[in-house]
Amino acid sequence: SASPLALKVADVSARYGRAVSALDRAALEIPEGAVVAVLGNNGAGKTTLLRVMSGTHRLHGGEITGGQVFVGETPIGGLNPRKIVAHGVIQVPEGRRIFSRLTVEENLRVGGIRTRDRRSAAEARARVFDLFPILADRRHQRAGLMSGGEQQMLAIGRALMASPRVLLLDEPSLGLAPLVVEQIAHVITEINRQGTSVLLVEQNAEVALGVATHAYVLELGRVVLSGPASELRNSPAIRQLYLGDG
Ligand code: ATP
Repeated sequence: SASPLALKVADVSARYGRAVSALDRAALEIPEGAVVAVLGNNGAGKTTLLRVMSGTHRLHGGEITGGQVFVGETPIGGLNPRKIVAHGVIQVPEGRRIFSRLTVEENLRVGGIRTRDRRSAAEARARVFDLFPILADRRHQRAGLMSGGEQQMLAIGRALMASPRVLLLDEPSLGLAPLVVEQIAHVITEINRQGTSVLLVEQNAEVALGVATHAYVLELGRVVLSGPASELRNSPAIRQLYLGDG
C-alpha cells in the first residue's frame, strides 16, 4: 500500500510575470520519512518548486497558475509563508541567509521563535548542538565570521529549531569543500533518521542521489524522470547528464 505523504505537489504550474513559465504541471510526492532529491540544470525550476512549497514564490514575483500543494491532506497552495511554517514546512533559504551580526546562539533563538514553551526550545537547541558540535563550540561567535560550511550548518540548525515535519533544502552543498559537503550529507541523513522528511534541491547529483531515497529530474519546469534514488543512480541517462559519464 502507498505510504502516507508528508507533502505533495499536484500538477503545479507557476510563472513570473506574463512571460516566464517556471513550472509546468510539476508533480512530486514526499512520503513521510523520505529524503527526496530534485535534480536539474540551471533554470529548470528547482528553486521555484521549493518556493511554491514554502509559499515564498510571491516574494519573488511568482504566481501559481494551476495545481495544488498539500501538507498531509491539507491544501496550502494559497497560504502565506508564516501559515505554511505553522504546518511544519520549513525552508532553509537560498544562499544560507543567516543573521551575520548575531551570534550562533542568537540565530538559533530566532529559528525557535515559534516554539511556544521554553522546554521544547531548549530540547531543539540541544538536538542542533548534538548534530553540529561545531555550533556548540562557536555559540557566542558572530555568525558572519564563520566559514561557509559553518554558516550552512547554522542555517540548517536554525531551521531545525522549528522542529519541522518537512525540511526544504536549496543546494546546501553549493560552494563548499568536498569534506564539508560530506559532513552535510551525513547530517541530512541523521536528521531524516530522527524523523524529519527532507526535500533536497541539488545540482550535485552525486551528493543528492547518495542521500536521497527518491529523486525527481526537472527540465524546463517539468518532471521528466522520477523514481527510487537507487534506480536513478543506475540510469544511463542520469549517469550521462548528471554524473559525468561519457
Ligand atoms: P538555478 O539552479 O539556476 O537556481 P533552478 O532550477 O532553481 O535554477 P529557477 O530558479 O526555479 O530554476 O528558475 C526557473 C525559471 O524561472 C528560469 O527561467 C528563471 O530565469 C525564472 N526565474 C526564477 N526566479 C525568477 C524571478 N524572481 N523573476 C523572474 N524570473 C525568475
